[in-house]
Amino acid sequence: NYMTGSELRKKFLEFFASKDHLILPSYPLIPEDDPTLLLIGAGMAPFKPFFTGKMKPPRVRISTSQKCVRTGDIENVGRTARHHTFFEMLGNFSFGDYFKKEAIAWAWEFLTEHIYLPKDKLWVTIHPKDEEAFEIWKNDIGLPVERIIRLEDNFWEIGPGPCGPCSEIYIDLGEERGCGSEECGVGCNCDRFLEIWNLVFTQYDRDEAGNYTPLAKKNIDTGAGLERIASVLQNKKSNFETDLLFPIIEHTAKVAGVTYGRSAKTDVSLKVIADHGRSMTVMIGDGILPSNEGRGYVLRRILRRAVRHGRLMGIEKTFLVDIVDIVAAIFAEAYPDITDKKEYIKKVIRQEEERFQTTLAQGMELLNGHITEMVKSGNKTLNGTIAFQLYDTFGFPWELTLEILLEHDLELDKAGFDQAMSIQRERARAARQDNEEKIVLPDLSRLSGEKLSHDFGASNAKVVLLWK
Ligand code: ATP
Ligand code: MG
Ligand code: MG
Ligand code: MG
Repeated sequence: NYMTGSELRKKFLEFFASKDHLILPSYPLIPEDDPTLLLIGAGMAPFKPFFTGKMKPPRVRISTSQKCVRTGDIENVGRTARHHTFFEMLGNFSFGDYFKKEAIAWAWEFLTEHIYLPKDKLWVTIHPKDEEAFEIWKNDIGLPVERIIRLEDNFWEIGPGPCGPCSEIYIDLGEERGCGSEECGVGCNCDRFLEIWNLVFTQYDRDEAGNYTPLAKKNIDTGAGLERIASVLQNKKSNFETDLLFPIIEHTAKVAGVTYGRSAKTDVSLKVIADHGRSMTVMIGDGILPSNEGRGYVLRRILRRAVRHGRLMGIEKTFLVDIVDIVAAIFAEAYPDITDKKEYIKKVIRQEEERFQTTLAQGMELLNGHITEMVKSGNKTLNGTIAFQLYDTFGFPWELTLEILLEHDLELDKAGFDQAMSIQRERARAARQDNEEKIVLPDLSRLSGEKLSHDFGASNAKVVLLWK
C-alpha cells in the first residue's frame, strides 16, 4: 500500500468528494479577519465563521488539505518522529449536517478500505463522558473495547471559537518503536502509538472569557496529518523520511558532507533544516516577510534557526536558497504557486540569510565566551543585557540564545532581556520623532512588485518600500 504524499492527499480529497464534500484549495497561512490567530494551525481555522453560523458556507460538507504552521511544536522538530512547524492537515468538515456516526464511519472506511491500514493495529481515544462515540466505535465499527481508550484531555480547541469533545485514531507501530516503559500505551509521547487523525465533534463556541455556549447546530471538524499517514504508508521511521521531506535532507546532507542516519546530532540538524526549509518557503510564498514582530518574527526565527543548524554541521556559506527549488518541486502539484513565486521567495531568503550569516559567527564567539565563563564560575543564568546585545547587534532571536544556553544546561534572564528591549524601544521612539523627515526613501518610480520591509539600522525606524 505504498503511496506518495501527493497520491495520499489526492486520495483523501477524492474519497470525501465521493461523500458529497466540496473540495476547496488550502487557504493561505495568514488568517483572514481573525485577530486571535497569528498563523493557520489547523484545517478548521479558516472555517470558524461557518461553524459559529456567522457566515454561510458554500456547501454544508467541505474537505481540504490545509497548510498549517505550529510554532508551539518548534522544539519538537527533529526530536520526535512526528512534529513539524509546517505540515498539511487533511480534513473533512460538516457545518450543521452530518455528525459523529458518519464522521467515525468514514474515517474508518478511508483508513481501512482505501489506504489499507491494518484494522488490528488501530486504537482510538474518546472523551470519558462521550458514550455516544463509545457506542459507535464498539457497535457500528466493531472495535474491541480494549482499544477504545477514555482520555480526559480529549477536548479540542484552538483559541476562542468552535470546539468540542474529540475522538482520535492512533496506529500501533510496534513494540520496537516504543520507549519500553511499563506504562507505554496510547497517549505516550514516544513513537510507538502514532496519532494520525483527530475527529472533533464541534458543539460549543468558546468566548474570550472562557465561557462555552452550545452551538445551534452540531458540526464535524477532523484533522489528519498528511506527513504522518505518509510515513506509515511508506514504511518510514519518521515523517522526515517520506517523499514530502527527504529530498531536502538528502540535499542538505550533501552540502554539509554528512550522511543521514550516522549521528543523532547531525540527524536533528538535517531534520530541523528540512522542516524549517518548507516552513520558510511556504510562509514567504503566502506573503510573510521577516521582521521583528508577529508572523514576520516567527519567520525570522525559523530562518535563523535553520542557519544555525547549518553551522552546527559545519556549513559556513549561505545554503538556504537552494532548498527553495526542492520544496517547490515537492509541492509542484499541490501548490504550483510556490513555483511561480520561486525567484521572489529566494530573494527574500537570500537577503535575510546573508544578513544573519555575516553576524552569526561573531555573535557565537561572544556567546561562547560567556558560556565558558559561566561554566567556570558556576553562574547558571546569562545576563539579560547580553542576550539583548546578541539580539540587537548580531540578530539572535532571544529564543535562539536560550536554546544554545539550554544545550549547556544554562538559563536566560528573560526579564532582563525584556527590560533592555523596552528601554531600547523607548529610545528608538524618541529618535524616530527627531528624525522623521531625514529618512530618505528610494526612488519609487523605479520600483514595482512585492513589498519588502526594511529596518534602518539601530534606530529601529521601519519603512516599507517597494522592491523591484
Ligand atoms: P500531537 O499530540 O502528536 O502533538 P495534536 O494532538 O497536537 O498532535 P491535533 O491538534 O489533534 O494534533 O491535530 C490533528 C492532526 O494533525 C494530528 O492528529 C496529527 O496527525 C497532525 N498534526 C498535529 N500537529 C502536527 C505537527 N506539529 N506536525 C505534523 N502533524 C501534526
Ligand atoms: Mg500537539
Ligand atoms: Mg495529541
Ligand atoms: Mg490531537
